[in-house]
Amino acid sequence: MKYNNATFVTSIANIATIPVAIGKEVAFAGRSNAGKSRALNTITGIKSLAKISKTPGRTQLINLFTIGVDRFLVDLPGYGYAKVAESIKKRWQHTLDHYIATRQSLIGIILVMDIRHPLQETDLQMIELCIYYGHKIHILLTKADKITKNIANSTLYDVRKKLQMHEKHVSIQKFSSLTNEGLFEVHAKLDDWFNELLPNCSQYQH
Ligand code: GDP
Repeated sequence: MKYNNATFVTSIANIATIPVAIGKEVAFAGRSNAGKSRALNTITGIKSLAKISKTPGRTQLINLFTIGVDRFLVDLPGYGYAKVAESIKKRWQHTLDHYIATRQSLIGIILVMDIRHPLQETDLQMIELCIYYGHKIHILLTKADKITKNIANSTLYDVRKKLQMHEKHVSIQKFSSLTNEGLFEVHAKLDDWFNELLPNCSQYQH
């Protein structure tokens, strides 16, 4: 699959207005400031694709990008930003829950975590939610350039071990938007997901 032809489709502030689910889509999720926007930019090779927010927690929209006919990448709002009001947090939790629970075209979630602070409470909740609804998760341990190779490898090992019971649903890799470490691996994972036949052989779900 080509990812560098990604094109912005729409931004959604209210989950009720999301376009009808057609084809296949992969969603990007993660705590605010984990490096989700930069990961999306690196994966597509388009520097300005997901605007790298200067104020974490500010971008509270679902952004849809197309990467070909009936193929989409979805940038979900970052979660876990401490300075956001409780009522807004609740609203966005509802949006995420609703999206994960009901989106029929969703074939996998790329979950972005800062390798220096993996598996925070909100990440674990996200993992449980995705597994509950039968979604596959691929975890990017980002900012791997910020720590030594040894520490990065032992973090990868620890995270794998902690999620071992979910190994059918969850895969994990190191990633860096600065050095492009892990770029090939995440492209291969996305290719796998997008090329996989759906269980009922229908590429179109509404
Ligand atoms: P988001 O809130 O999850 O979308 O996070 P951003 O993508 O905006 O990144 C948050 C901050 O981390 C920014 O200052 C980025 O430049 C920085 N960042 C993101 N990914 C990496 C990475 O792989 N390596 C390094 N060194 N910095 C990164």
